[in-house]
Order: sequence, then C-alpha cells, then structure tokens
Amino acid sequence: MKSVERTSDGAGDGTRDRECYRCNRDVAPALLFRIDVAPPDTLADYAHSVRFCCQDCVAAMGMLEFTEEWKEQAGLG
Ligand SMILES: [Zn+2]
Repeated sequence: MKSVERTSDGAGDGTRDRECYRCNRDVAPALLFRIDVAPPDTLADYAHSVRFCCQDCVAAMGMLEFTEEWKEQAGLG
C-alpha cells in the first residue's frame, strides 16, 4: 500500500512525523494529534513517549474529545 518512493534505507527513521504511528498513513503534520504518554513514577521501566496519530486512530482509541463549543453547535451541550 505504501508508495515505492521511500529512499532512506532504514537510517534516521525517527524523523518521519508526517505519518500516523498506528495506521502508517501519510497525514499532514497539521492534522496529526500528539499523544503524550507519561508513565506513573511507580512504573520506572517505562519512558515518557510521544506519538503522532491521525484523527481516525485517536477516535478508534476512544480518545477523541470535542470542544464544548462544538458540542453546543451539535446540540449536545
Ligand atoms: Zn492512524
């Protein structure tokens, strides 16, 4: 499903923040959600991590929240 235009051969793979980490679709950076995971102090083996994720995946994980303004407009307030 991916295009064959990928030129980098594995090196520096961590710089691609234009795609959703979950579904690997190419998404414009302006449309990516930032998921900031801060583990509790008691689980010291886990590091703080940040992922970028598309709207669909955020919704699929049940983490999509609309603004109060949006809810009012939709009659959900
Ligand atoms: Zn996604």
